[in-house]
Amino acid sequence: MTQTFESSTEDAGTPAYTMVDARNLHKNYPGQRQPALEDFSLTIPEGQIFGLIGANGAGKTSVLKILATLNKPEKGDAYVAGYSVRRNPQEVRRIIGYMPDNYGLYQDMQVEEYLDFFAACYGIRGKKRHRLINELLELVDLGDRRKEELRNLSRGQKQRLCLAHTLVHDPKLLLLDEPSSGLDPRARIEMRELLRELSHMGKTIILSSHVLSEIQLMCDALGIMARGQLISYGPAETVVNQIEALPRRAVKLRVLSQEDLKRAADLANAFSGLLKGSLRLDEINLTLDAVLDGDDRTSASFLTHLTISGVFVAQYGQSTARLEELFLRN
Ligand code: ATP
Repeated sequence: MTQTFESSTEDAGTPAYTMVDARNLHKNYPGQRQPALEDFSLTIPEGQIFGLIGANGAGKTSVLKILATLNKPEKGDAYVAGYSVRRNPQEVRRIIGYMPDNYGLYQDMQVEEYLDFFAACYGIRGKKRHRLINELLELVDLGDRRKEELRNLSRGQKQRLCLAHTLVHDPKLLLLDEPSSGLDPRARIEMRELLRELSHMGKTIILSSHVLSEIQLMCDALGIMARGQLISYGPAETVVNQIEALPRRAVKLRVLSQEDLKRAADLANAFSGLLKGSLRLDEINLTLDAVLDGDDRTSASFLTHLTISGVFVAQYGQSTARLEELFLRN
């Protein structure tokens, strides 16, 4: 059973107006048994930094792509600054800047050339273009790398350059898919500061991640996604506290033989508290990892089952499950 908690918008801030209003979105990709999005609704006020959190496959990219008008929902609609993604996609595109999770960069272009190219695509000319590029380079702190080829940039610098690219047409809403993935702690702080600055400039920002610790300090509000649904949202601090209070235990055990490992796996599969899809076996190191839907008592009960059944347990450890392990697809 997946535990959910109450949605809450309490203290989320008093919006000037609603920037994003997604209503009952449904998305089913061809050939997939489960829908990527199921009755997904979300409201985000202007000026907020909103983080979508969820395990791999939860549906975060699907939401962002619909808001970016790259995918159409089969049911429901989403409004960006009042424009429908279904009926007014051109208007929506003027308002949004989308940064996908894996972007292709022209490696042999220079930083300045890269931004110049996209500014030209948007029809920005002459002195205005020159000024804009200088401003963007200053904003993302790449002024001293302007002549550098993109292949020579660090991951954090590439992310900041891509962010500058999404800002070329001065969008009101930024949709950033996993902007902090793969960044080291320092680069993450730089990204956080940059997003804060953009927020102060009046931008609304939605970003996604499957690692809570990566983005919890970047966001004003968070939404947790699991199996295509939003199962909780509210002020970042409230949501983080709710996650930390969830009774889930990650257990890890090491046994003495392959035979013990097989028996331990059979017992885990039969154990009522096992979170579906969370069982991992390592036949070389003879270890088993699993997430149990319960507290210390559940974990202790699993260990008792193992020993009563004659499995030789060499090591047994349990800890609070991490976010990535909490909302696995069933
Ligand atoms: P990740 O963190 O791994 O990027 P996510 O939360 O962004 O995951 P989505 O990419 O939205 O999740 O995927 C949701 C579900 O839809 C997954 O089961 C995925 O396999 C499926 N899916 C996404 N895109 C497609 C596609 N183009 N064709 C078929 N199935 C897809």
